[in-house]
Amino acid sequence: MTSSSTGPSEIGPQPPENGERRKSLPLGPQLAAEARQAWTSYDPAARRTALAGPLSVQIQTVTGCNGRCVMCPMTEREDRPGAHTMDESLYVAILERLRGAGTVRILAPMLQCEPLLDPHLATRVRQARQILGPQVVIWVTTNGALLTPERAGDLASAGVDVMEVSLDAASQETYGAIRQRLDFSKIVANTEALLARPGRMQVALRFTRQQANAPEEARFVKEWSARGAIVVKMGVTNRCGSVSTFERLARSGAAPPERQALLAKDLLFRGCLLPFARMHVLYDGRALFCCEDWREECVVGDLGRQPLDEVWNGEAVNRLRGLIHSGGAGDFEPCRSCSRRPPMNPLAQTVPGTQSAEERR
Ligand code: SF4
Ligand code: SF4
Repeated sequence: MTSSSTGPSEIGPQPPENGERRKSLPLGPQLAAEARQAWTSYDPAARRTALAGPLSVQIQTVTGCNGRCVMCPMTEREDRPGAHTMDESLYVAILERLRGAGTVRILAPMLQCEPLLDPHLATRVRQARQILGPQVVIWVTTNGALLTPERAGDLASAGVDVMEVSLDAASQETYGAIRQRLDFSKIVANTEALLARPGRMQVALRFTRQQANAPEEARFVKEWSARGAIVVKMGVTNRCGSVSTFERLARSGAAPPERQALLAKDLLFRGCLLPFARMHVLYDGRALFCCEDWREECVVGDLGRQPLDEVWNGEAVNRLRGLIHSGGAGDFEPCRSCSRRPPMNPLAQTVPGTQSAEERR
């Protein structure tokens, strides 16, 4: 892949790779407010949303993973790491359509995969920065195995705003019980080097809360916060029924005040906000209704063949939005089988007060 196809349509200066690193992740409250706006923008009678495009987008530039984690559907399937990559012309065409919509606030060049398996990831980031402009937050979540200092430098120079490393453990023993085929000490070293490098790229450490790491949660937060990382806590989800061990892995949920806040949100909106605000694009251009749908049961369009509006605001996606809006998410897959479907499942919710990268893989 080359970067030539962005050509004269390139816009927006690349942000300087210097300056002070912020202490909190970008766009949290703002994006939450916009997601609520996305919900209220939906007109169930007209079966359309007033939003011209998604607020956030995940694009799968490569498939597969070099890890096998106990809470991930990847562990129960045979995907070869890097078996498919997105064609560059398709990737650029999608970005240009998104620029036309003018709505995107966050771009994650990844979906249900390990993004650093894409050898051209830095070029993809650079293209996204050039096409979507300096205001868009580019967010990468990785298992960190391939995040060498050299690769981290390339990605920072290309324009990544947030690099989130999924670690989930404070000890080798716990890490080995959760994240298989990956080397804890190497990933810790990569992450420490990431934190030591100067520049504006923010570093987040993800802690996916589950039974196995419960005794290490406080230590994890303390140790990585002291090193300057932002800790992101999430719960495990069942990936719409794709994780057969979910009930055994999951922990009981948030503490009472947090739980009340989540329940209030569910009462207010009656349904999941996610498909009203986000788009998820597979390596061949097909758009998934939801990132949690690892079985690809619900494809709502194909950006390789259809214009953005036809996918984002078409009959397929709006029929399902309408069901969610009217409280009928339990009537169809993948929502019927999803552990995140309101009424809230306390086992699966992100812990409030932390910024959710929300299942960027
Ligand atoms: S959780 Fe992430 S690192 Fe682990 S197997 Fe799944 S995609 Fe790979
Ligand atoms: S309920 Fe689950 S599957 Fe349905 S849109 Fe929400 S997160 Fe996705």
